[in-house]
Amino acid sequence: MSKIAITPLGTISPYPKGNMNCPGFLFEYNSKKIILDCGNGITRLLNFPKDLKDLSVIITHYHKDHFSDLGALQYASHVYHNLGLLDKKVKIYLPQNDFSSNKTSIISNNDSYSDYYDINDLYSFTVDDLNISFEDNNSHTIESYMVKIQNKDFKIVYTSDVGTTNFSKLVDFCKDADLIICESSFLQKHNANIKTHMTAYDAGILASKSNAKKLLLTHFWPEEEKRLYLEEAKQNFENVEVAEEGKKLILRR
Ligand SMILES: [Zn+2]
Repeated sequence: MSKIAITPLGTISPYPKGNMNCPGFLFEYNSKKIILDCGNGITRLLNFPKDLKDLSVIITHYHKDHFSDLGALQYASHVYHNLGLLDKKVKIYLPQNDFSSNKTSIISNNDSYSDYYDINDLYSFTVDDLNISFEDNNSHTIESYMVKIQNKDFKIVYTSDVGTTNFSKLVDFCKDADLIICESSFLQKHNANIKTHMTAYDAGILASKSNAKKLLLTHFWPEEEKRLYLEEAKQNFENVEVAEEGKKLILRR
């Protein structure tokens, strides 16, 4: 039986509040780990140095709420390596194109024990039999990669920050997914008319149109109640949950 565990490390944006952090998810598969985004505060939910071993970190885009804890993680890898407790570098995957020198500042950090790789639409890598691939939907405010994690048993999509202007492309990317971890920055009542993020209502439509099995909502406004997002998505899709920090989800096949 194949099993993958997914732990939300951060579910709100753009600032951490109480026991909630900015975006981050930990995937555990066999003894391997993948962290999707490294938002403010997520490192407090990691177990050091254990979680640094066999770790790949994916940063989906250069908005600070998605990578602000990367410096802390890099420094932890540096220190634990110097202490003789970490003998393999952390692999850090970064969007190919730099914005405001964010990438330069990340990869020039000398207090880090890490290797760096460029993400683009054509790039993919493997962790055991998992294939990890990327697509920029070109609907967020900057280059922002959706992530697909797939093997013969599972297909999981993390949308990261995505907008609604290329919705059919988004549906294609999520087609028949076992799980979509979808941003829902807004509720309909916000009436923001912002096309560079999703509402929980949109996330429900996405899950329904793409024939997904399950929807996990994330990327909430810190001052809103999560149950409101749940209620809104449920108008369009039944099997939906809201991500909670530390609440592990296990997929089995
Ligand atoms: Zn963003």
